[in-house]
Amino acid sequence: MQTGIIGLGAMGTGMARNLARSGNLNLLWNRTSATADTLTKELDITAAASIQQLASSVDIIIVCVSADKDLLEVIKAIQQSIRPGSIVIDTSTVSSETATKAAELLAVRQAHLLDAPVSGGVEGAKNGTLAMMVGGDQAILDKVKPVLDSICSRIIYMGPTGSGQGTKAVNQIIAAGINQAVTEALAFAQAEGLPLEKVIDVVSGGAAGNWFLEHRGLSMTRQQYQPGFKLALHHKDLKICQSMAEQNSADLPLVQQTIIDYQQLMNDGFGDEDISALYRLKQKNLA
Ligand code: NAP
Repeated sequence: MQTGIIGLGAMGTGMARNLARSGNLNLLWNRTSATADTLTKELDITAAASIQQLASSVDIIIVCVSADKDLLEVIKAIQQSIRPGSIVIDTSTVSSETATKAAELLAVRQAHLLDAPVSGGVEGAKNGTLAMMVGGDQAILDKVKPVLDSICSRIIYMGPTGSGQGTKAVNQIIAAGINQAVTEALAFAQAEGLPLEKVIDVVSGGAAGNWFLEHRGLSMTRQQYQPGFKLALHHKDLKICQSMAEQNSADLPLVQQTIIDYQQLMNDGFGDEDISALYRLKQKNLA
């Protein structure tokens, strides 16, 4: 089966490299063509002349774009040219409703959607060790699993369309809590005058150790907030979680506080920084 990828940002680029290395990538496309051209040179994989050309030339389309409206723009752009029977694997983080809408648009052309958001950060995309949570038809997932194995170390089928994105919402709530905890704790350590490198080293080895502390702890204490995962994208994800909870009249206090904090940072011009830029606020609070 021929495979193409749409969306070569922080995550898509890592996925494209691993797909290419394993011989599972035939075409690529990015809205900003310079990015596609650079990767074409590096990987010797052809850049499609248009998004429609990519859709009409491959059987599997992996998508990794920013937000709900972007996914729907992409799906509408490929709807007329996609081949019947093709499989779109959307790795972006969007709402379950958007996944359902995208699946309906593709079904008109007898094409399939798997909502397949991922976790593991840019490091996971780079190393081919993403965790993927998949909604849709399990038989369709079985068909594409050999391709997905080159970008993931864990692929779990969650249930019908939207279940992958529902699971990703859970992941994003946990990520918000970890960000709150790690940034607050390290700002506290700094205010106490403790040796930060040693604090991170020893705490990482115990019960409070976690991926975020290990991968973003030192950089945040050095005021380096290069994404990583853009704060504005996590804000978008938490708004999805909030809206899902509201449908069940439920509250998510931790999510609400994180949305407020991120909004403040976005207002101050830090939306394109890594989510660890929350450290900026924690430092101010503890100064
Ligand atoms: P990113 O670096 O900002 O890249 C976004 C990509 O989407 C770019 O290639 C961009 O094209 C493309 N794009 C945006 N809007 C588009 C549109 N309307 N039509 C076509 N292409 C469009 O973001 P990222 O970090 O790779 O994240 C991508 C998705 O993965 C998001 O949904 C995010 O929530 C999710 N995610 C991110 C991480 C992480 O750690 N970064 C982890 C897990 C999941 P241009 O180059 O033209 O702007």
